[in-house]
Amino acid sequence: MIGNRIVVKLGGTIILLFLIVLLPVGFVIERIFSGFYFNEVRDQNEQLSAHYANVLATAPNANIIPMMEMMAGFSQVKLYIVDSRGQIIAISGVPDLIKGESVPVEETTTLSQGKAIEKVYVESATAKRYLVFGTPIASKGDVLGGVYVMSSLEGIDQSLQKVREMLTLAGLGAFFLALGVTYILSKKLSNPLIQMEKAARKIAKGDLNTRVKLTSTDEIGSLAQAINDLAFDLQRYRDTRKEFFANISHELRTPITYVEGYAKVLKDKLYESEQEKDQYLSIIHDESIRLSRMIGDLFDLSKIDEGKISLQLEWNDVTEVMEGAIQKATIQAKEKGLNIQLNVQDKLPLVYCDGNRMTQIFINLLDNAIRYTDKGGIYVEMWQEDLQIKIAMKDTGMGIPEKELPYIFDRFYRVEKSRSRQFGGTGLGLAIVKDLVELQGGDILVSSILGKGTRFELTFPTTSETSIGEDEE
Ligand code: ADP
Repeated sequence: MIGNRIVVKLGGTIILLFLIVLLPVGFVIERIFSGFYFNEVRDQNEQLSAHYANVLATAPNANIIPMMEMMAGFSQVKLYIVDSRGQIIAISGVPDLIKGESVPVEETTTLSQGKAIEKVYVESATAKRYLVFGTPIASKGDVLGGVYVMSSLEGIDQSLQKVREMLTLAGLGAFFLALGVTYILSKKLSNPLIQMEKAARKIAKGDLNTRVKLTSTDEIGSLAQAINDLAFDLQRYRDTRKEFFANISHELRTPITYVEGYAKVLKDKLYESEQEKDQYLSIIHDESIRLSRMIGDLFDLSKIDEGKISLQLEWNDVTEVMEGAIQKATIQAKEKGLNIQLNVQDKLPLVYCDGNRMTQIFINLLDNAIRYTDKGGIYVEMWQEDLQIKIAMKDTGMGIPEKELPYIFDRFYRVEKSRSRQFGGTGLGLAIVKDLVELQGGDILVSSILGKGTRFELTFPTTSETSIGEDEE
């Protein structure tokens, strides 16, 4: 809707503001103007009529009427003179009036009381307006009549008309100025917004390559930047999701193919010895375990992704958690002839975390260390550094090539696909570990030397007030 456009709203507001300022200013100017002129004319009339009245008042009584007539005749000013009964006895320059007519009774009464008269008179033939001022002619306490002096208000009316015209012009000017401002604003403000709206709609439709052109660094510019960032994030999210789903189907299909294939071999009795049969059964068993692990991992990851994972956060002694995890992993390590050593700096502070998730992290790392180590052992160290707890897990295994290190926390990333498969990995373990560590405010780093071993270092925040040592004191 056109009325809903920001430019129309802004333009309307600007025009309204102009009018709000201009109208009262115009009104005041007109008032001041007309008041000033009116007073000028009034004062002039008052002075003149008072002056004539004065002159006439001093004339001898017998001569008063002829003198009044004579004065009117000589006068260039529009005036008329009435006697004490209100009858017009002399006129100068007022064609409307006739000698011998009477002015209204109230005026005669006012004059007889010695008071002046002030009125606006409209000439019947021309509709011209006059300002009339009548002064009583008073001599020794008697009112002999009155002198009325008239001045045309045409000049004032014309000037006022001019002022009104000028104000109207100013108003029109303001209107067009506002229109101009609105036009410029529409270019500056509304165009980028329209562009952004179009871009946002395109992005919503799935065209994630859409970008808004950045033209400024103000709020509109940062909005455009935000839209671009959003498009970029969505694009990355879509790409990783696509890749993720492709990986899932691939990773799930492989063990199922194995299970299917070997189950068929067994069903059709296509083996030659009991030993061969056991071998096939153990493959089916291993692949089923792998499958269920993978499904469990995927379930965890999807919960993490949706933010639905609920952490039971409490103050935990991570040393105890680590000891529990090592205990669980020991059987597996022993089977490979590996030793797990734990070295803890005493009095480690408590960590605010989820005990079960912490166990999951440690078991995952220990599992990997055992899986990718053939001889030597696994060394776990725990110590405090400032307000943090550090946990290092080092093995003497096959290590990870340096160029692969940045990717090992990625989902489904496995160093040498065949090697991991041979060890029964899913490629999801470290991704889950990293997510869980970060969810609990921690951090994980890895370093490795190929053929020598791998070291994972975890950092968790803590506070000194809650340290076990201080609690005991
Ligand atoms: P997987 O289930 O395949 O082990 P992870 O996500 O746990 O998946 O690990 C990713 C990859 O990192 C593994 O495929 C493995 O090659 C490598 N990796 C992990 N831990 C170690 C380790 N301790 N020693 C050597 N390689 C490791």
